[in-house]
Amino acid sequence: MSPAQRPPRTRGVIALVESSCTVCMLCVRECPDWCIEIDSHVETTPATEPRGRDRSVNVLDRFAIDFALCMYCGICIEVCPFDALHWSPVSDYSGPTPTDLVHERDRLSSWGATVPDKPALDPAARPDPDAVRRSPA
Ligand code: SF4
Ligand code: SF4
Repeated sequence: MSPAQRPPRTRGVIALVESSCTVCMLCVRECPDWCIEIDSHVETTPATEPRGRDRSVNVLDRFAIDFALCMYCGICIEVCPFDALHWSPVSDYSGPTPTDLVHERDRLSSWGATVPDKPALDPAARPDPDAVRRSPA
């Protein structure tokens, strides 16, 4: 079965949307197998106003997942507050050595093109009551 024919929630490989990652480290802390490694550094932008504060941002240096350790629980995807991780249905990424299963940020990002669109909402679902409260009057 090709990846396109698999069910939309198939857990194949994890895709990273690098631009959405704020290096909050939540996925690293919550992963039960400790198979996510992130390195980053802090960059500071000086304040632009006389009484303003300098701004600091975390800049991603390395993001790697070791799929030899991963148990495909999906916790990292669930806990990411910024939707930076997604399941791709692609499962054909083995290699001759165990290190081939360590995917660095470029490879993780490349899986983004294979992530299926979110399925449409079930038309029979109950309306979200919060959506009414959130909508402008
Ligand atoms: S799917 Fe589970 S085991 Fe794999 S990287 Fe995410 S949290 Fe860790
Ligand atoms: S939880 Fe999401 S935003 Fe935070 S470090 Fe992991 S991928 Fe990046």
